[in-house]
Amino acid sequence: MKQLAETLAERIDQPAMLAQVQGWAAVNTGTANLDGLATQAAMLADAFSALPGAVELVDPAPVTAIAADGREFEKAHGQHMVLRVRPDAPRRFLFTGHMDTVFPADHPFQGQTWIDSETLNGPGLADMKGGLSVILHALTAFETLPEAAQVGYDVLVNSDEETGSLSSSALIETLAQGKYAALTYEPSALPDGTLAHARGGSGNYSLTVTGKSAHAGRNPLDGRNAIVAAATLAVRLKELQRSDISVNPAKIEGGAANNVVPDHAILRFNIRPKAPDAAERFVAEMNALLGEVRQSQEVDISVHGGITRPPKPVGARAQKLFDLVRDCGAVLGQHIDWQASGGVCDGNNIAATGVPVVDTMGVRGGKIHSPDEFMIVPSLSERAALSAFVLSRLSSGDTL
Ligand SMILES: [Zn+2]
Repeated sequence: MKQLAETLAERIDQPAMLAQVQGWAAVNTGTANLDGLATQAAMLADAFSALPGAVELVDPAPVTAIAADGREFEKAHGQHMVLRVRPDAPRRFLFTGHMDTVFPADHPFQGQTWIDSETLNGPGLADMKGGLSVILHALTAFETLPEAAQVGYDVLVNSDEETGSLSSSALIETLAQGKYAALTYEPSALPDGTLAHARGGSGNYSLTVTGKSAHAGRNPLDGRNAIVAAATLAVRLKELQRSDISVNPAKIEGGAANNVVPDHAILRFNIRPKAPDAAERFVAEMNALLGEVRQSQEVDISVHGGITRPPKPVGARAQKLFDLVRDCGAVLGQHIDWQASGGVCDGNNIAATGVPVVDTMGVRGGKIHSPDEFMIVPSLSERAALSAFVLSRLSSGDTL
């Protein structure tokens, strides 16, 4: 067992990984930067074509959002990369990552800086272009083993994870169907390699309130004040917060001049349910509240949005996958631990399909979503060896 782990580790080319990640991170891929995403998608398609199977760039599903004036508009997204290897194999796996970052093209954080000989600072290095390289090099090493022929896998690299994977969630769901297990390559929860375990969920809503305008002095009673209704909703929604769900009214837009009863407002809010039943209860309570406010304030309220990241509890099979990752780490001399996380990612969506997933198999690093984001460089080959070994175990008898 130890020999197999060491053989795999030796087959991973750390300098090639670093050069690749530095090249990928030099391309700005803010979720809205369609040109940057197209460049990155082409680079990824080229790199992943070194594996057997067929690479495809898949168009994003249509996504709409609500503008400040209440208008629904279509939001453009980049293409997603999919690689399918041995689609007819009886046991298949899913590997996922994202190519987008939270840094738009005009953000000052674009370059890379060495902090010390093992730590590189730069946008998207840890979150998660490093992880994309881990996927590629883990699979490249795995493909040198005879047991690779027994199994198959799909790789998905989406372009919109940082804004909630709205244009790729259906694709994630489709690709997860029938898979034995999934691994997602977000950076480790802590710089020491600790994995994220159970995760809460997340949902984003925009409530568009339409009232009736009137003169604030002449006939105020003829008006139906959309700002007051939106403010009432904000207060009442906040009161739906419980120990198993947080509710964050974030923004009210709209209104009118001081002498006008405003007929238009938009309330935007986020919820973080810790468990599926909390999410269901919230939706029922919210719908009852909307009915009540529609009636009492005589306004129209339309709902846009919903739960985009279902809560991710860790079931028995997922726990066995965590245990396997820890055991494989131990053979490789890596100490692997885990802890619950308040964050969300595509692992939430995969877990909701019933497929066991560990979603922080990417590089070790930290301070993500900030200009201090860093990647611990030796973790590239370390984590690639870990994934290759986990996959070899799952392909030669280990069950979940
Ligand atoms: Zn990420």
